[in-house]
Amino acid sequence: MIWRASVLTLFPAMFPGPLGTSLAGRAMERDLWSLESRDIRGFATDRHRTVDDTPFGGGAGMVMRPDIVDAALSGFDDGRPMIYLTPRGRPLTQPRVRALAAGPGVVLLCGRYEGVDERVIAARGLEEVSIGDYILSGGEPAALVLLDACVRLLPGVMGAAESADEESFAAGLLEYPHYTRPAIWQERAVPEVLLSGHHAAVAAWRRAEAERVTRERRPDLWAKYHSQSATGAVAPAPLAP
Ligand code: SAH
Repeated sequence: MIWRASVLTLFPAMFPGPLGTSLAGRAMERDLWSLESRDIRGFATDRHRTVDDTPFGGGAGMVMRPDIVDAALSGFDDGRPMIYLTPRGRPLTQPRVRALAAGPGVVLLCGRYEGVDERVIAARGLEEVSIGDYILSGGEPAALVLLDACVRLLPGVMGAAESADEESFAAGLLEYPHYTRPAIWQERAVPEVLLSGHHAAVAAWRRAEAERVTRERRPDLWAKYHSQSATGAVAPAPLAP
């Protein structure tokens, strides 16, 4: 069965956008996944097609109405996770992306203004997901990010040349550095071990580099990786064949 993405947005013209090109676009043409966008404004009931209103309690900005958002979500309760993209959500991680890619697809709700009325989040049991600790003007770029991360993992989308097994986060570490030709560029040489042809030595160097980079740049990931490998909860995955 085809992996289905449905996006609820006030700006349907933003989709598929960048996902219509390159890897994701080719995968869509090959029917490995599908994308439909639904205009939330189509569910407004008044003459002016209003979707938002002022916040109870006062304050700046507008809030998307629960009745309109709920109507826009109707018909999508088909077992796919329903996700509201919001900076208040759980940060998106590669394990969550992997789980979503392994499922039937997603229904994504993109907010605008100050966001959506809390009651429709509760009534629909929406999963709240953030793509990072910063504020976008709308959920649409966040939806594109989530979909890009999922689609590349769908079976048949990436070739062997683009394997996902070794990349950052696959083993709980950031990835080791990459080098290609020329072997010397602006007087900078490639690390010698990579030219040695010794596969075991290359693998050991890559693992050491992955650990160094993770330790230096992401103490949070390093602590997690360390505690998990110390308790044997996860065996460190090989970084190279
Ligand atoms: N007032 C809100 C921000 C609203 S931003 C707050 O302070 O939490 C408007 C919309 O953009 C949100 O409803 C959400 O759908 C989207 N958005 C903004 N930043 C996001 C992020 N980091 N991750 C996911 N969605 C985000």
